[in-house]
Amino acid sequence: MNAQPNTPMTRDFVLAVEGLTVSFDGFKAVDNLSFYVDENEIRVIIGPNGAGKTTVLDLICGRTKATDGSIRFKDRELTTMKEHEIVRAGVGRKFQNPSIYEDLTVFENLEISYPKGRSVFGALMFRRDSAVKERVRNIAETIFLADHLDQRAEYLSHGQKQWLEIGMLLIQDPELLMLDEPVAGMSVSERRKTAELLNTIIKDRSVIVIEHDMKFVEDIAHKVTVLHQGKVLSEGSMAKVQADPKVIEVYLGH
Ligand code: ADP
Ligand code: MG
Repeated sequence: MNAQPNTPMTRDFVLAVEGLTVSFDGFKAVDNLSFYVDENEIRVIIGPNGAGKTTVLDLICGRTKATDGSIRFKDRELTTMKEHEIVRAGVGRKFQNPSIYEDLTVFENLEISYPKGRSVFGALMFRRDSAVKERVRNIAETIFLADHLDQRAEYLSHGQKQWLEIGMLLIQDPELLMLDEPVAGMSVSERRKTAELLNTIIKDRSVIVIEHDMKFVEDIAHKVTVLHQGKVLSEGSMAKVQADPKVIEVYLGH
């Protein structure tokens, strides 16, 4: 593994992915990929099915090990770190299907995700001190669930469940938050509110979003990276990539 990328750093990126490659039995799902994410940036990754988008997130969060290349998060090299170490370093990742505790309330779901709750005494046993309560309320406000704190998660709508899971990540205050198709299955108004949510939380962090809904992408993206066959096909502003003939041919034209 190449732990010493040879591209000189000219500025401080939150995330610098360089020469990243993963090979599954000889098939390169991600192929010599490089991209850089700034502080307070919302980066959207788009591209056809099978382009390698989810695999890129799997590599960043340590779920899949890179065959080659480097992933630097601030001053840490992530490719040699374990999944839980990457979480602790400040990288949060939301999967496509929400993993919330259906039989717990909204409050309890957020509380159990508060970092202090992970003690040797068990996540549910720590004191509900006022700092935690305050933080839970703040997050609930941000994710539009302030009036649902006592509701069991199983009774939330699909969109509200997605927001709750985002809240469970936010309560850990990640510096980089990664979301895989967060608005899939959401109504138009839920999509609009999710865009609002991301535009609020970006003040304190960077976000990488994989998404297909181009209206939503337009509402949130600072920059768009178009992936195709594990490589960057195009990158830049929404207007730039939308006008790129290569992007129209392999993705937007369909
Ligand atoms: P996307 O999210 O852009 O739709 P993925 O990252 O899920 O694409 O997949 C990219 C390619 O890598 C696909 O061809 C997929 O079948 C393959 N792939 C993903 N994960 C694995 C794996 N663990 N083993 C083998 N092939 C995989
Ligand atoms: Mg995917």
